[in-house]
Amino acid sequence: MVCVVQVEGDPSFVPSCGTLAQEGMRVRTNMPEVLSARKAAIELLLSEHAGDCEGPCRVGCPANMDIPLMLRQIVAGRLDLAIQTIKADIALPAVLGRICPAPCEKVCRRNAHDAAVSICLLKKFVADWDLRRFDSYQPRCEPHGGKRAAIVGAGPCGLAAAYHLAQQGIRCVLFDKNKSAGGMLRYGIGEAALERDVLDMEINQILTLEHIEFRGGVEIRASSFESLCKDYDAVFVATGSDKNEFGLEMTNKSLKTDPRTYQTSRSNIFAGGTAIGRRRLCVRAVADGKDAAVSILHYLRGQNVVRADKRFNSRLGQLAEGEMEQFLAGAEKGLRCPARKEDFLTLEAMVEARRCLHCDCGKADDCTLRKMAKLHQARQQTYQGQRKPFIRQVSNSGLVFEPGKCILCGLCIEVARKYANDIGLSFSGRGFKTQVAVPLGKVLDEALTREAAEKCVEICPTGAISKS
Ligand code: SF4
Ligand code: SF4
Ligand code: SF4
Repeated sequence: MVCVVQVEGDPSFVPSCGTLAQEGMRVRTNMPEVLSARKAAIELLLSEHAGDCEGPCRVGCPANMDIPLMLRQIVAGRLDLAIQTIKADIALPAVLGRICPAPCEKVCRRNAHDAAVSICLLKKFVADWDLRRFDSYQPRCEPHGGKRAAIVGAGPCGLAAAYHLAQQGIRCVLFDKNKSAGGMLRYGIGEAALERDVLDMEINQILTLEHIEFRGGVEIRASSFESLCKDYDAVFVATGSDKNEFGLEMTNKSLKTDPRTYQTSRSNIFAGGTAIGRRRLCVRAVADGKDAAVSILHYLRGQNVVRADKRFNSRLGQLAEGEMEQFLAGAEKGLRCPARKEDFLTLEAMVEARRCLHCDCGKADDCTLRKMAKLHQARQQTYQGQRKPFIRQVSNSGLVFEPGKCILCGLCIEVARKYANDIGLSFSGRGFKTQVAVPLGKVLDEALTREAAEKCVEICPTGAISKS
């Protein structure tokens, strides 16, 4: 019923997929009542849905790093890819690998079985490996597009903002009252917790990026701040204190900061990190820098400065009895772990990364249900339905079947009929218990030819059928 429409002259809703078009028919698709009926249909589907779009670890990471993907890349021995995944969201991973209290591990699903996956140590392992390499990873920077940003404060927040802005072709000049960059990382954390050579190397990676310039030992006072505002297209205040020498108090009435966009009441000035409130976690400051960079970019491109678009996120919640075993079985099968490269130096890390239960969905970036939920601003909690059990079957060929995510559209059954061998797929059970099943007690690999399996993965609108 997600496709309901109203035909003029008939007050009821009809599903468009089951209604024949007729000469002169006038169809209403975007009336408020139609949209609200569609939203209700989606919310009903979500109320029984058994799946996490993103793993709990990623949701718990203030920088929203794609942790499960990093872990799969480590298992595959692809540290070169793992560092790219990490650095897409975290500008200073070797540093954070040493000082972050790892909120992601506190919410790791594996805690309920034995202990959390050592996410933070694995991130440190990859970042250290990369720092030691001759050609360490440096992200590609777009050519300079003519815009310039001044960043006041070269601590974790300012460095992160520069790191992400430079990649978009924004020229960034970082000002700091201290001679060296690093802020509280250098002047607030002892060497025992954070080795200076690691700090220096990682900061140097940022400062040597194209479009970034560092000017240390420069005090920005009220008059020089006003000059910056005139000379640069945008100014980002990341001073590590909400009271600045240049006479601005970021949280007071004279210069309000929108905590969602980091834009202040003077539209060309942005503020983040401790400049707008206490940041207990360094990763929070790094995340602020990344998110503020998105807003600054919107502003510089003349677009609306709006909060970074949050995707819909289905949550599995508490596991029922027996569901942990489903996750463990998937992990045991090496779910979504492509063939590994022989590299015994990384063996321990691979073994640890293999403990991941892959809580994230195989179709997280390509799920119609997720997209529709976002489009209609649907909530999962509107209807307190009984959710389906979480079941995960991984076939030898790498096909993953999770019936708890199935919306019973029947498309895979059609595909199987067209492309598969004699067995195919069918619906079994009734009412709430209806599900797609392989008849005759056979397994998926027996029911579907390779071609049929590929088509099913492609056509399934959710993560019910995916590929490992
Ligand atoms: S099937 Fe779609 S809505 Fe469900 S968990 Fe996967 S991505 Fe999220
Ligand atoms: S088991 Fe893996 S995917 Fe699940 S929360 Fe832990 S690290 Fe994340
Ligand atoms: S295509 Fe996917 S959602 Fe549709 S019935 Fe098959 S498994 Fe379920």
